[in-house]
Amino acid sequence: MEQKFAGEGLREWESPLYLEALHQFDRVAELIGLDENIAERLRVPQRSIVVTFPYRKDDYSDVESLFGYRVQHLLTMGPTKGGIRYAPDVNLGEVAALAMLMTWKCAIVGLPFGGAKGGVRVDPLALSRSETQRVTRRYTAEIINFIGPNKDIPAPDMGTDEQVMAWIMDTYSQQVGHSEPAVVTGKPPALGGSVARREATGRGLVSLLPMAAQQAGMDLDGACVSVHGFGNVGRYAALAAQQLGTRVVAISDISGGVHNGKGLDVEDAMAYVDKHRTLEGFTGGGDRITNAELLTIDCDVLMPCATGGVVTGDNAGDIKAKIIMEGANGPTTLAADEILNERGVLVVPDILANAGGVTVSYFEWVQDLQNYFWSESEIVGRLREIMSRAFDEVLSVATKHETDLRTAALIRGIRKVADAKLARGVFP
Ligand code: NAD
Repeated sequence: MEQKFAGEGLREWESPLYLEALHQFDRVAELIGLDENIAERLRVPQRSIVVTFPYRKDDYSDVESLFGYRVQHLLTMGPTKGGIRYAPDVNLGEVAALAMLMTWKCAIVGLPFGGAKGGVRVDPLALSRSETQRVTRRYTAEIINFIGPNKDIPAPDMGTDEQVMAWIMDTYSQQVGHSEPAVVTGKPPALGGSVARREATGRGLVSLLPMAAQQAGMDLDGACVSVHGFGNVGRYAALAAQQLGTRVVAISDISGGVHNGKGLDVEDAMAYVDKHRTLEGFTGGGDRITNAELLTIDCDVLMPCATGGVVTGDNAGDIKAKIIMEGANGPTTLAADEILNERGVLVVPDILANAGGVTVSYFEWVQDLQNYFWSESEIVGRLREIMSRAFDEVLSVATKHETDLRTAALIRGIRKVADAKLARGVFP
C-alpha cells in the first residue's frame, strides 16, 4: 500500500518496533482490502505527548531530567487504555508501536477502549523507592490533562507496579480535589484495585494453553515450559503453568536464568525475587543459564514474558518449543515469525495471548465507576470466558483465511476498529 501520510513520512515515531507494527498492519490492511482513508488514519497515533521533567535524587543536591511519553493511538472506541513502562531504552517510537498494538488487542477481546501506552526513560532498578515516587508523581503531573477515567486510563507495564499506580491515582486525585480510583487500573485492592488483576495477564495467557495444545496436537500433562522474564507477567504465567500440571524447567530475568530439567519450584523463585529484586544467585537445584540459552532450550512451550524483539531471525531456527505463547508485547520479530510459521511452530500472538491484563483492567475500571466490587471467582470466570471466546473467534478467522493466528487476530481487530470508524464518519 502506498504511504500517503502527510509528506514528512513517519519520522516522529520511527523505531524498529513501530516499523514492524506498521508492516503487520499494512499487510493485513491490504489482505482485507481496508478503505485507504481509514488505513491512513490508523497508521499513525492520534496523540503523542513528549515531556521532560526533573526529579530530585535521594541526596537532594542532585537533580536529574528525564524523558516521558504518553501516546494515544485511537480515540474512536471510547477512552484510551494502556500501560506505563519504566525502562532505560524507552522512546517515542516504541511507545507508539505498543499503543497501536493495544488498539488491536482491545478490539480483539471486545473492550470499549482505544490503545494507548506511556513510558519514562529511566532504569527502575537504579531508583530507590522514594525516587520512584518522585519520578511517578512528576510524570503524572506532566500528563495530567491527557489522562482521566473518561479520557485515558494507564496501567502497569514493564518496571511499574501496583505501588506506582497508587501514586498516580493519588497525584491525580490531589489535583482534581476528590478521590478518583478509575483513573488507573492495576492499583492495590485497598484503593479500588481489582482482586486478581495482579495475576491476570499470566493467568489469561495460560488459560489459552490447553486450546493451543489441542491445535498443536500436544499432551500438556508433564509438558516442559520455559518462561523468559519473571516479572508480573512471567511469574504468574509460570505459576499458572505449574498449576496446570506442566513442568516449568527454565525461568529468567534481566540477571540471567536458571534451568532444572526436573522442574523448578515457581513459588520458591517468586519468594527469592521478592527478597532480592532479581533471580541473580538463584539456582532452584539446577544450573544457571543465559537468557539466550533459555530461548532455545529443550522444551515444549516457550513463553516470552519480558520484553520486545527477543525471538529473532537469528535464533528462531534453533527454538525447540512447538508452541510460543507471547506474554510480552512484540517479542517476535517479523523475520522470526516467518521462520516459525515455516517450521510449523504455533505462535499465540501478544494481541491475543496477553489480553488478560487489559481485560481485568477493564473489570477494575467498571467496578471503580460503579463502586461495586466483584468476587475473585466472578472475575476469573469472566476472564476465562472472554479469553476463550477470543481464541475461538481468532481461530475461525485463521481457518477461513488459511493463515496464522497473528494475521487472523489482526484481521479481527482491524476490522472491528474500521467498522467503528466508518460508522462515526469524519468530523466536521
Ligand atoms: P515487569 O517489569 O514486572 O517484569 C519484566 C521482567 O522481564 C523482569 O523479570 C525483568 O527482569 C525481565 N527483563 C527485562 N528486560 C529483560 C531482558 N532484556 N532479558 C531478560 N529479561 C528481561 O514487567 P511485566 O509487567 O511483567 O511486563 C513484561 C512484558 O509483558 C512487557 O512486554 C509488557 O509490555 C507485557 N505485558 C504486560 C502486562 C501487564 O499486565 N503487566 C500486560 C500485557 C503485556
